[in-house]
Amino acid sequence: MTNGELHTVYIGFGGNIGDVANNIAAARQTLDGLFRVNANVHSSLYLSKPHGKVEQDDFINAVSSFQTSLAPMQLLKEMITIENTLGRTREIHWGPRTIDLDLLLYGEEVIETEALTVPHRHIQDREFVLYPLNEIAPDLVIPERGPLSILLNCCADNGLKRLEEQEAVQA
Ligand code: ADP
Ligand code: MG
Repeated sequence: MTNGELHTVYIGFGGNIGDVANNIAAARQTLDGLFRVNANVHSSLYLSKPHGKVEQDDFINAVSSFQTSLAPMQLLKEMITIENTLGRTREIHWGPRTIDLDLLLYGEEVIETEALTVPHRHIQDREFVLYPLNEIAPDLVIPERGPLSILLNCCADNGLKRLEEQEAVQA
């Protein structure tokens, strides 16, 4: 499945139950270990307002880029294992969660299968994805959507707040 070729992938992290900052750090550490490459880039943590109709706490979100030779479905499997290890349960759609990992982009590939849609289907609507992406990859062009800079112009920040390192420790 892998031919050794490295792909740049972007993964989004989010949660609003428990020690989310710690869960995001743990997920990133696991992925860093898995890929064994030092070219991984991590955004700051951001505080965001929940989307959808469920009344719930604010979220902490972040994105990272990784270099991986894993195929998309292998990568998704690893991501789901990390979610499960960190105590993710799925009771309410778009409801509270300890940690959610979304595969935002896999190189320039467009994937449309039952298990995996890449670019992530909501990427253009989520300020908590677009603003952190802009922090680590402002020149990004998203397949089938266009330049990140243009998507940002069309996406209200919905009160998104970047956390300074000290605030992130306390979040
Ligand atoms: P959401 O992230 O929309 O709140 P879930 O995390 O509960 O929803 O959904 C996870 C499921 O979505 C996974 O089992 C996976 O098969 C599917 N999925 C489709 N595309 C992606 C993607 N790009 N990243 C992560 N999961 C995806
Ligand atoms: Mg998800």
